[in-house]
Amino acid sequence: ERIISGEADFQDISFEQSLRPQSLKQYIGQDKVKENLEIFIKAARIREETLDHVLLYGPPGLGKTTLAAIIANEMGVNIRTTAGPAIERPGDLAAILTALEPGDVLFIDEIHRLPRSIEEVLYPAMEDFCLDIVIGKGPSARSVRLDLPPFTLVGATTRAGSLSAPLRDRFGVLSRLEYYTEEQLTDIVVRTAEVLDTSIDGKAAIEVARRSRGTPRIANRLLRRVRDFAQVKADGTVDEQLAKEALELLQVDRLGLDHIDHKLLRGIIEKFRGGPVGLETIAATIGEEAHTIEDVYEPYLLQIGFLQRTPRGRVVTDLVYRHFQMEVPAD
Ligand code: ADP
Repeated sequence: ERIISGEADFQDISFEQSLRPQSLKQYIGQDKVKENLEIFIKAARIREETLDHVLLYGPPGLGKTTLAAIIANEMGVNIRTTAGPAIERPGDLAAILTALEPGDVLFIDEIHRLPRSIEEVLYPAMEDFCLDIVIGKGPSARSVRLDLPPFTLVGATTRAGSLSAPLRDRFGVLSRLEYYTEEQLTDIVVRTAEVLDTSIDGKAAIEVARRSRGTPRIANRLLRRVRDFAQVKADGTVDEQLAKEALELLQVDRLGLDHIDHKLLRGIIEKFRGGPVGLETIAATIGEEAHTIEDVYEPYLLQIGFLQRTPRGRVVTDLVYRHFQMEVPAD
């Protein structure tokens, strides 16, 4: 497990519940998304209607689940939570939908992993709040319509591109979450420290934020590890020096890169003179699956401008040479 992975690990799950902001006001960053949602929520409340279906998309750990819960809070309704892979048969979804109270939020995480047969049950449910159920078999089979309470579907996905067009079209609100800035992550670290009753100074908070790869989940995880270090090595207070020491020990460099990022980048420099080099070739060289490189390792490196995709393959940029304090090649 990489400490700088955006995916939740076992420990995150037990911590995260207590760290989640409860209202749009407490939710840091994502200003455009928040502004839009605020208007839609207010309008729906004035009209006493349910909120339009909302699709949240973006990399893991950026706050989609948190935002779904906030939407329910702000609408003053309950939230029911499930995930694409957990719904195997149409009956599973029917059971969830018929148990909803009017106005409830149904949150489906990883919605791109819903089987197609289930998606088809979802269409009339989203559009007309009804279910078409087939009763009986063979020539005597007939279809019955069942009314559902009006509800808001909030779907979350890390890959909006793998959502089928008919499903995507049924969402009224599409919100893309962006990586957070260092300042926003610093605010999140300070807020989390308060919730965890840990004292941290401003500079230490910045150190943690800077290495969090734009991702609140990683910021919170690093803070917890730094806090452990402070409790064992010092009096529990996190200052800049201590934060730096702890993060060095965790082998997360000052941009949030770990040994796998280093292996990838150095591999391209040392074996392919900085590229361009094809994804499959990189994969074979460093002993990783091509799709893991593409889905997990690359996005952040592309985001910070360390890697570029060209028609001829991947290329490292000058920033990488400078980061490793290597001489930038003349060409
Ligand atoms: P996702 O569903 O996108 O993977 P989560 O909603 O589970 O991400 O967020 C991961 C953790 O990051 C949560 O525990 C939450 O405390 C924190 N977090 C996410 N977004 C924010 C935010 N905007 N402000 C404060 N904390 C946040």
